[in-house]
Amino acid sequence: MKKPLKVTITGAAGNIGYALAFRVAAGDVFGPDQPVILQLMELPMTMGPLGGVGMEMEDCAFPLVHDVVLTDDPKVGFRDTDYALLVGAKPRTKGMERSDLISENARIFSTQGRAINEYASREVRVMVVGNPANTNAMIAAANAPDLPRERFTAMARLDHNRAIGMLAKKTGALPGDVKRMIVWGNHSPTMHTDLTHCTVKGQPAMGLVPEDWYREVMVPTVQRRGAAVIEARGASSAASAAASVVDHVRDWFLGTPEGDWVSMGVHSDGSYGIQEGLVYSFPVTCKAGTYQIVPGLEVTAFGTERMKVTEKELQDERAVVADLL
Ligand code: NDP
Repeated sequence: MKKPLKVTITGAAGNIGYALAFRVAAGDVFGPDQPVILQLMELPMTMGPLGGVGMEMEDCAFPLVHDVVLTDDPKVGFRDTDYALLVGAKPRTKGMERSDLISENARIFSTQGRAINEYASREVRVMVVGNPANTNAMIAAANAPDLPRERFTAMARLDHNRAIGMLAKKTGALPGDVKRMIVWGNHSPTMHTDLTHCTVKGQPAMGLVPEDWYREVMVPTVQRRGAAVIEARGASSAASAAASVVDHVRDWFLGTPEGDWVSMGVHSDGSYGIQEGLVYSFPVTCKAGTYQIVPGLEVTAFGTERMKVTEKELQDERAVVADLL
């Protein structure tokens, strides 16, 4: 039997964490023959509900789960962890400016970066979900100087999957027929969906949908999908967000399918003229826990303009948290 992987989930009693923990336990992320030890973290005042999650986990009797650790102590939660899924973050409350949210969460992610640096496996992979996810990933990496920054990524996959779902519906195809989707930039309303290289059943997507539908309907709908779900459901997306964490980590761990790529928030190496060091969503291919930004893709003038807007937003976010980098 394989050695169990240690998987940390922060905010494990929250909406996304609750949906995610059971998918990891069922083998949806690391495969049906890979045992896991779950290290579920919460804030001290949420340890009560986390105890309930622990009870339900026990009641599922998942064969792959070798242990479940429930803790509010980063030293315990990140101890020897192989995968740290940083979901927990402070939600935006009424009257709070975006910069206040960034500052509050930046402190959480700098502390977690230091704890990961100190206690995690030297092979750890970190995925940040808690918002502002891109900037939080940059902060966590900056506070973990003993680990390569390539180990820290941010979720762009829900936006990527939303774009695939929308295009499949529009063209009467199945989501699995859509390949080479790209969502560039920040996980925020400035993100940019790019169909230039996308195909549906092998046909160029831009030949299947009207250009004005792409620019005026698709791009803004993907940008505002999170808000639309909140409006309809009365709560932010949770099951779909958890499903996208599953996709992101599974592809990072097991690899992307041949001939396709995924969108992932990673440190820019200057590719496509994006400022080096920002955590920006690029198209990447993955193999056995590593990723590579897809090089040399043609970008349209429309795409370049939108990619700069989302880059500028990330530069502004970075300026707010400069003291923590
Ligand atoms: P959720 O589980 O709904 O969301 C968690 C985070 O994911 C939020 O920052 C949320 O951002 C973000 N997120 C990123 N992408 C998406 C997306 N596409 N759709 C929805 N959310 C997205 O929040 P809850 O408040 O239910 O749970 C958070 C939990 O984290 C709480 O239980 C809290 O106690 C815990 N926590 C734990 C910490 C720790 O373990 N050290 C630290 C801080 C909090 P947004 O708010 O913008 O929707």
